[in-house]
Amino acid sequence: MRTPLVIGNWKMHGTLVEARALAAGLRDGLKRPRGVQVVVCPPFTSLAAVSEILTGGPIQLGAQTCHHEAAGAHTGEISIPMLAEVGCRWTLVGHSERRKEMGESDQLINLKLRALLAQGLTPVLCVGETAEERRQGLTFTTVEGQLRAGLAGVGTDEIAKTVLAYEPVWAIGTGVNASPTQAAEVQGYLRGLLSELASKETAQTVRILYGGSVKAENAEVLLAEPEVDGALVGGASLNAQSFIGIVRKAARIGTAAKE
Ligand code: PEP
Repeated sequence: MRTPLVIGNWKMHGTLVEARALAAGLRDGLKRPRGVQVVVCPPFTSLAAVSEILTGGPIQLGAQTCHHEAAGAHTGEISIPMLAEVGCRWTLVGHSERRKEMGESDQLINLKLRALLAQGLTPVLCVGETAEERRQGLTFTTVEGQLRAGLAGVGTDEIAKTVLAYEPVWAIGTGVNASPTQAAEVQGYLRGLLSELASKETAQTVRILYGGSVKAENAEVLLAEPEVDGALVGGASLNAQSFIGIVRKAARIGTAAKE
């Protein structure tokens, strides 16, 4: 049984005041979520403030990216020890916006993922094809390349501590989500690859989230797919009520699966 996981990616949104209000809304609205794990990833400038608000509660803190070195002359970067110090236990790696806008390569993503595992944070490795790649029938080739490169040199025990997110680029921020069948097809493929890279048993324990225009309205059908172990949510995580709506749907599915 894989506990559903819902992660909010706030991207580059929100002042400190807005981040505090959103975090307080989530804290008050999700006092004891059952059958689901919840993480939010605010911008760096809000991490410490959000951490203070969420400390002691069930919602955990994550970052949107990190540098793979612990310290050094890397202007503008944030290290994993810095993230851990403010309470982050999770970090996204390989989000398509960073691959595209910041030119992050599979090799750099692998360095970050391995550094996170070495320092005890959970990496959430994002993979996904563009619309053009899907049109050309390259969906599986693309996600397989990203997965193999992202997990290069990572042992079975460490793969077991990793979370994957299937995020088709054409579905991110567009309002067009993958259908449950499309998500399940790719996620099942990724799980098959995990069996090969780690072991069949480990592959069954790794959570694979779906991300791309998830809203309270479509969360239920997506999360009902056995291959979809939760959601990575961008736009809809910026409003406390809509994010809570998604978490409640995941909780219902998670609790039902346990009974
Ligand atoms: C994301 O940023 O990972 C994402 C899935 O965004 P959205 O939910 O807005 O499509």
